[in-house]
Amino acid sequence: MLSLEKFTIGVGDRFAHQAKAQLQACINLAADGVEVVPVWNKSNREHTFIGSSPQSVRDAADAAVQALGWRKPYHVDADHIRLDTVDRFLDASDFFTIDVADGIGAECPEKSVFRFVQRHPELIGEHRIAGLSEPFEAGEAEVTRIAEKYMRAAKDAGAIFRHISKAKGKRGFIAEVSMDETDAPQTPPELLVILALLADEKVRLQTIAPKFTGRFNKGVDYVGDLAQFEREFNDDLGILQHAIALYGLPKNLKLSVHSGSDKFSLYPIIRRALQRTGAGVHLKTAGTTWLEELIGLAEAGGEGLALVKDIYSTALDHVDELCAPYSAVIDINRAALPGAAITARWSGAQFASAMRHIPGHPEFNPSVRQLLHVSFKLAAKKGGAYTGLLKANEAIVAKNVTENLYARHLRTLFVG
Ligand SMILES: [Zn+2]
Repeated sequence: MLSLEKFTIGVGDRFAHQAKAQLQACINLAADGVEVVPVWNKSNREHTFIGSSPQSVRDAADAAVQALGWRKPYHVDADHIRLDTVDRFLDASDFFTIDVADGIGAECPEKSVFRFVQRHPELIGEHRIAGLSEPFEAGEAEVTRIAEKYMRAAKDAGAIFRHISKAKGKRGFIAEVSMDETDAPQTPPELLVILALLADEKVRLQTIAPKFTGRFNKGVDYVGDLAQFEREFNDDLGILQHAIALYGLPKNLKLSVHSGSDKFSLYPIIRRALQRTGAGVHLKTAGTTWLEELIGLAEAGGEGLALVKDIYSTALDHVDELCAPYSAVIDINRAALPGAAITARWSGAQFASAMRHIPGHPEFNPSVRQLLHVSFKLAAKKGGAYTGLLKANEAIVAKNVTENLYARHLRTLFVG
C-alpha cells in the first residue's frame, strides 16, 4: 500500500499552469523546517467544466517536480470520484477521494444494519475515549440509527475501493473517504460508527473528510463558532486514534479538511491540535489558486486587467447560473457587488486588493472574491486567450500563487 505522509496540502490548479508556483510554496515551507507534501487535486466536475483530462494534472505535477528538483513525495488526487467517474482517473492518479456523500441516508437492507449492530457491541454504552472533551453515551437505538444512515455510504466506499484496488494492483494507491458534500455535519459519535462501517468494508482509508460544523464557504474565512469547531476537531482526532486501535485501520489515518483554503481563523486551532496530539492533517485547497491568477493578471495591467474586468462583468450578468451549483458554499451579498461601470474605472492594484484575501484590508470585497471564485468557467470559455495571458504574465501570477499558499496558508497552519 502506498502510504500518505503526515502533513499534506491539496492544491488545485484549474488551468494546469501553476504547479511550479504551488510547489515553490512547499519548498519555502521546507526551508522553515516543516515538510508538507503536495497533492494535486482536480475533480471530475472541474475537468468537465474546463474540458481537461486527469492526465494533464499528472503531467503538470511531474513537470513541476522535475523543474524544481523536488525529491520528496507528491501525489495526484482523483478528487471526489464515484464508481461511475473513477475510471478515467485510474492511470494518472495515485490518490483517490472516494465521495460517498450521496449514499448518506440512502436505504439499505435492515438485516445488514441489524448484523452490524450485533457484530459491534463495543459501540454501545458509555465511551470514555482519550482526547475527547467529554465521555458520550450511545444506546443500541442510537447506534442503529447511525448505522442505518451511513451504511449505504460505507458500502459504496467499499465498492469503489475494491474497484480501484483491482485496477491499481501492486502499484498501490492512497484512499480518502469524503462525506463533506452533504447537509448535516457528522458528530464525533457518528464518526466512530462510520469508521467501524468502513473497517467492516475493508476500506483502507488513510484520510477522511467529514463535514464539520459551520460554513466552509469557497475562498473566504470560516463562518461559525470557533470554540465548537475546536472541540469537534479535537474530538474527531480522539475518535480516529480510538478507531485505529480498535479496528486495525491504517495507523496514519488522519483528518482531511475540504474547502480548506482561506480558513484563516481555523488554522491556529488546527495547528494547536496537531502540536498537542502529534496528528497529521490533509488540507484541501483548490480555487484559491485560480483567484491568484486573476489577482496577478489584474496587477499586470493592460490586457490582463482588461480580461479580469471582462470576466467580472460577464459574471455579474450571470450571477444566478454561476452561483447555483455552489449555493451551499458561498454567501454573496449582491448589494456589495460593484457594477461593471464602476469596476471599469478600477486600477489593477485596486482590483487586486478587492480580490486578495486580506480580511482587514479596506478594499477587500468578499462578495467580489466569491463571485469570481465560481466564475472559472468563464475563463475556460476564453481558452487560449486566457492561458496565453497566464503565460505572458507568468512571473507576476506565480508570485501571487506562491505567496498566497506559503504566507497565508502553509505558514499560518504549520508555523504560526
Ligand atoms: Zn470536498
